[in-house]
Amino acid sequence: MNRIGIDLGGTKIEGILTDENYQSITRKRIPTNQDNGYDSILDSIKNLVFELTEKSNEKVTVGICTPGALSLDSGLIKNSNTQCLIGKDIQNDLKNILHQEVSIENDANCFALAEAKLGAGKNSNLVFGVIMGTGIGGGIIIDGKIHHGRTNIAGEWGHHCIHNDGNSCYCGHKGCVETYISGPALEKNWSESSGLTQSLPEIIQNHTNPNFNNWKKSFLENFALSLSNVVDILDPDIIILGGGLSNINFLYDEGKNAVYDKVFSDIVNTPIVKNELGDSAGVFGACLLQSH
Ligand SMILES: [Zn+2]
Repeated sequence: MNRIGIDLGGTKIEGILTDENYQSITRKRIPTNQDNGYDSILDSIKNLVFELTEKSNEKVTVGICTPGALSLDSGLIKNSNTQCLIGKDIQNDLKNILHQEVSIENDANCFALAEAKLGAGKNSNLVFGVIMGTGIGGGIIIDGKIHHGRTNIAGEWGHHCIHNDGNSCYCGHKGCVETYISGPALEKNWSESSGLTQSLPEIIQNHTNPNFNNWKKSFLENFALSLSNVVDILDPDIIILGGGLSNINFLYDEGKNAVYDKVFSDIVNTPIVKNELGDSAGVFGACLLQSH
């Protein structure tokens, strides 16, 4: 059966139609228009599914990859940085609109699943997939399946505390990983130390600036703290980095070594690698949702 995977992002909604072997048949991308609210997002998804399937009468499966997590009790979206989705029963609403079952997972789990099945983690049993971008997320795949945990929060390493009484986080806690090594947090940190308002790629280019080494040192320290905790607890076969920050090359040598230095073991060789699917992990992860 053909599959549709939809990646519902903060700025764009992307859809892919694949065959049963996850080979792309057609693909479309439209803006999210968060300002127009929840109903307009539902409408956009409906139109996207219609456009992807208009040339074929075959039945399809539909999977959605979305920011935020689904509450285990209510099925409603919680903790999303696409604010208008919070508290909405998007799975049921889409089921009613599309007249078919819809699977839904958060973007970090979709990323980890796609990379574990089709990308950099193909030969690994326990995969920890990490999204480092505007927000910080993570997903755990064990033997090809998403590990959700008792309350559906497994893998959410972006909100574990690495600094007691540290930076305030939108989640209500202090010292969360996300407030130190997300794109906006790193840009804020740079602006405070250098006085420059620059995007992360610009900061990386600006490595001769006298403030750069201190900025990088603190970035690596926080990266190492947060991931070494994961290695100590989960001991994954591989850690795969995704999101905009996965393009920062020093994370794979200096960053990796900094993590190793903090792990509670004399044997540390966990591969920390870049994703292989790039921006496509979301749509492919969504396609894979029906298959397990
Ligand atoms: Zn937090």
